Amino acid sequence: MTFSSRSMAIAAGQIYYASGKKCKYEHPDSRYTKSGVCVGCHKARSKTKAESVRKAFKDKCRGLKTMAVSFHPDDEQQINGFINALLFDRGVY
Ligand SMILES: [Zn+2]
Repeated sequence: MTFSSRSMAIAAGQIYYASGKKCKYEHPDSRYTKSGVCVGCHKARSKTKAESVRKAFKDKCRGLKTMAVSFHPDDEQQINGFINALLFDRGVY
């Protein structure tokens, strides 16, 4: 069930409510009960943020080489830890 008033949605413990009008970016009327933020705007912003984080990480990884390594399965955790420590030292993480 979708509530048309935020206070009713809050009282009913709903995550979303329908404000009845589109936001200034013409998204449908769904809004988060907790913040009143437009769901469409929130998703668009999250996507932009995720893309910028992904791009920054990709930039940091530029110039890194990849190589295949064979190891005993029991050593996987230690090897991953060692590689992560090296990457951390180089500022990748
Ligand atoms: Zn919006």
